[in-house]
Amino acid sequence: MINALSIDLEYWWCNEFLTKYLPDKREDTLRESLNPLLGLLEEKDIRATFFVLGAVAEEYPDIVEDVFERGHEIGCHAYSHRTLYELDAPEFEREIERCLSLLSKYRPRGFRAPSFSLNNSTRWALDILQKHGFQYDSSIFPVRTNLYGVPKAPLGVYRPSKDDVAMHDPEGAIVEFPLTALRIGFNVPIAGGFYLRLLPRWFLSWGIGRVNKNRPANIYIHPHDVFPHVPITNLPIFPKFVTYHGAADSLIKLRHLIDRFSFKPICDILADVGSEAGLPPAATAVSAV
Ligand SMILES: [Zn+2]
Repeated sequence: MINALSIDLEYWWCNEFLTKYLPDKREDTLRESLNPLLGLLEEKDIRATFFVLGAVAEEYPDIVEDVFERGHEIGCHAYSHRTLYELDAPEFEREIERCLSLLSKYRPRGFRAPSFSLNNSTRWALDILQKHGFQYDSSIFPVRTNLYGVPKAPLGVYRPSKDDVAMHDPEGAIVEFPLTALRIGFNVPIAGGFYLRLLPRWFLSWGIGRVNKNRPANIYIHPHDVFPHVPITNLPIFPKFVTYHGAADSLIKLRHLIDRFSFKPICDILADVGSEAGLPPAATAVSAV
């Protein structure tokens, strides 16, 4: 079983919990935080999907080019990292168009909403993704949190209905690869990011192993998740915990997972799902619950 690995390529301050504590002048650490991650992927000969924020592509076209040249898939993470909850449909479309214009050379096929903010209150976004030629989305997190989540969504690849994104619609235009949750009576998020930093290594390994009995896992990470030197320190305890906890040894955890499990870009996983079903990747989905 091969799993999907994705990196949301964004600034460290693209975190909902930091918004009201940020200084006007911020020290950017994108290159410093990304390099160890790229090095690890290179060392282990792993390709991943990079959901690139348009603002990053605008400021660092050389970084995006470098990522692409290394063989990784380039996806779209909108332009400014405003969540879909903060936007209406025309504003979201402008975000998409601006990001796509910066990434057009890489022909992104996949989208990830900032802060996983695709749910039933923002399902209008599916029409816009379809209109702009996206083949898949990876924004739905089948868990319940204060910030995001569609707790009743399927755990495996499916096609969200435009009436209810938790329902599979065989005619749906967009394939969804949800972030990985493990069902043990209730859904436990084990998809990476904060959960990679928070959860012990043995639990992550056990959880992914259990998921792999039925389906591939979909694991995400931000460069700042594996970089313990983000230059802001005077935070209240909760945002500090959510933002930094575990960053010092998360690259070691990721290395362990890469040693134990196989990973590849999301587009390749979806191509496998398509071929197993005997259909082209963009025309099928498997609802593995
Ligand atoms: Zn993000």
